[in-house]
Amino acid sequence: MNERQIIEYFTALAGPADGRLLQGIGDDCAVVDKDGCRVWLLTMDTLIEGVHFDCAFHPPEKLGRKAVSVNVSDVGAMGGRPVFVLLSAGMPPGFDESWFRAFAQGLTAACREYGCWLIGGDTVASPQGLNFCLTVIGEAEANQVVRRSGARPGDDLWVSGPLGYAAAGLELLQRGLAPDEAVFAPFREKHLNPTARVELGCRLAESGLAHAMMDLSDGLATDLAHLCKRSGVGARLWVHDLPGVSALAEAAALVGADAERWAIGGGEDYELLFAAPVEARDQVRAIGAQCGLPLSLVGTVIAGEGVSLIRPRPDGGVEEIAVAYQGFDHFRNTRAWG
Ligand code: ADP
Ligand code: MG
Repeated sequence: MNERQIIEYFTALAGPADGRLLQGIGDDCAVVDKDGCRVWLLTMDTLIEGVHFDCAFHPPEKLGRKAVSVNVSDVGAMGGRPVFVLLSAGMPPGFDESWFRAFAQGLTAACREYGCWLIGGDTVASPQGLNFCLTVIGEAEANQVVRRSGARPGDDLWVSGPLGYAAAGLELLQRGLAPDEAVFAPFREKHLNPTARVELGCRLAESGLAHAMMDLSDGLATDLAHLCKRSGVGARLWVHDLPGVSALAEAAALVGADAERWAIGGGEDYELLFAAPVEARDQVRAIGAQCGLPLSLVGTVIAGEGVSLIRPRPDGGVEEIAVAYQGFDHFRNTRAWG
């Protein structure tokens, strides 16, 4: 079974919840009615040593912040703000206490930065390796929540920030390449210490311009395929000028990788992907500018299904390549078990 099949199996067994659940399995967060006007947003993400992080190069303060950021990212992706955090900490006997203190300080400082509080959790011994599982509870106006399911044919597809930096950074770090070279610092930092785009998510939600939104955790191709599936549409990605690809060229050459592949298939960027109507382009750009984030048009929503890449050919024509699920699946990618 792959990751999707496991989630689908749980979904089928769980059955429907009561009427307070406005959105169950299948979006960035579960959405639960709070008081008729506002909703709770609930999400959980896990960081496992050897799968999601490597202590050999991941500073503990940054890992603590990342544990919060990757969860808060899902709340921002639905247009909400994080409020409460629960933490399950699994640590092996004889864990390094100074490492732990730095991790805890990074985690709690990140909570303050994002405006949420650690309110509970669980602490257990882990026979092997460190693992941290966070639940973040956020809040939003009920009528402003942006789901994955609202994209309409003709919508523009936008992403915030550059793509592929986290995948490039991870590869450079794993190979121990040029650890001090400033030109590669943004890539390493994106893997080690991503920032959740909460302000952007909230402003887009308030504006009512985004028909559908999600955060990019598994790679653009995979995540866009999920958004399309939930929305009952297809999409075309214009790959000739994906944001970040030119900046990745030197790093790609160094490790013999393909910068475009990083941008399309690399996970953990924690940028936002959203669909908005063509008429809203100027307003969308203005919101990006208010948040200090470059927003890039990367494609268009079409009727039908599936995601395809549109690439210009040297002869002036274009080629269309079907892609789907090229990103990270925990049960298909051997790296998860390596
Ligand atoms: P994201 O990348 O946004 O964190 P995932 O791809 O991990 O989302 O999960 C997709 C959806 O499946 C989410 O709604 C998540 O809550 C749900 N999900 C994932 N794993 C499980 C599980 N073991 N049981 C129930 N729901 C799950
Ligand atoms: Mg998500």
